[in-house]
Amino acid sequence: MSRPASPHRVEELPLPTDRLGTRRSLTVHRFGTPGARPKVYVQAALHADETPGLLVAHHLIRRLRGLDIPGEIIVVPMANPTGIAQIVEGVHIGRYALDGAGNFNRDFPDLIDGAAERLKGRIGADREANVAAVREALRATLDALPPPKGEVPALRRALLGMAFDADIVLDLHCDLEAVPHLYAGDALWPDLADLSALLGVKAVLLSADSGGKPFDEACSVPWWTLAERFAADGPIPPACVATTVELRGKADVDDDRAAADAEALIGMLIRRGAVTGSAPGPLPDLPPLLCEATPLSGLARVVAPVSGVIAFHRAVGDRVEAGDPIADIVDPTAADPDNARTTLVAPGGGIVMARNNLRFASRGELVASIAGPAPLATGEHGLLFD
Ligand SMILES: [Zn+2]
Repeated sequence: MSRPASPHRVEELPLPTDRLGTRRSLTVHRFGTPGARPKVYVQAALHADETPGLLVAHHLIRRLRGLDIPGEIIVVPMANPTGIAQIVEGVHIGRYALDGAGNFNRDFPDLIDGAAERLKGRIGADREANVAAVREALRATLDALPPPKGEVPALRRALLGMAFDADIVLDLHCDLEAVPHLYAGDALWPDLADLSALLGVKAVLLSADSGGKPFDEACSVPWWTLAERFAADGPIPPACVATTVELRGKADVDDDRAAADAEALIGMLIRRGAVTGSAPGPLPDLPPLLCEATPLSGLARVVAPVSGVIAFHRAVGDRVEAGDPIADIVDPTAADPDNARTTLVAPGGGIVMARNNLRFASRGELVASIAGPAPLATGEHGLLFD
């Protein structure tokens, strides 16, 4: 007997504003039963000019409406109403807040110290009890934070407030031009191999803590950090599987691809018991995994040492060896046109994961990123470029 699809509720979550006469809100799609497990949280376009996730969220919501959801699924299909409005002279600025609050996907509240303080004497041998205690401590810490200072910190707080206690958090982003790839914590691999295979990702970049406090890490890093701090008391598993899902490049937006990506997310949710498929029986085999995970510290950044036109030699998805030419930076104003090119080479071997989508670079601008198997010296950029 088929069960009815889970209820679907759409809520508007008002956000505080810094400017009179303006009002913003988050549209939140809720499926299943509040408080039931597993809890899944999906959001798109935290970087507001990253469109692929918006269309994937649309297809995901359509699909979820017809499915049975034993736990709770929250989808925020457009996670950044501040950023979506930032049009400057016809150009959409979606990555950084124009009010000076920085990169929208950085500086999420750090709940670790507050939770650790509240967990003293509460961690023991029972894993499940520890998971519940950690969630409770994270919630109490979040609730006790001072009021956010400004519209963007308030947005970050609101998003984290819906996601911090989820079992699965999928933050849908894209790069400029890229193959599909994931960012996640070391502790979440190979757990995320299912999503990787289903989405056909070509790179999985792992770190324990990138240092930038992006959204996924605000949800996941507390788990392994608290596990280390309380290792002598009892086990704390990485109970929040949070990942930043990079859905190719900014212009890779079409219905077929978005529907397939949404289906991949549904596939992961079925495998993890968050969605009950219509056909009971054994799960279908996963497609082949297209890559092994590599360290985020192995992501080589190819930066323009001079300004000029970018003439690429290699495409995204290409495999390269150290020393292979990736692009020329061409200075058309050079007095000698035979001496107008600066060739940028791969600092290490790997896959060309992402490229700049513009073809003119400032000095110091990122031209391409190559995911390699071994850690590199991170230099001035740290683990996250900006
Ligand atoms: Zn992004």
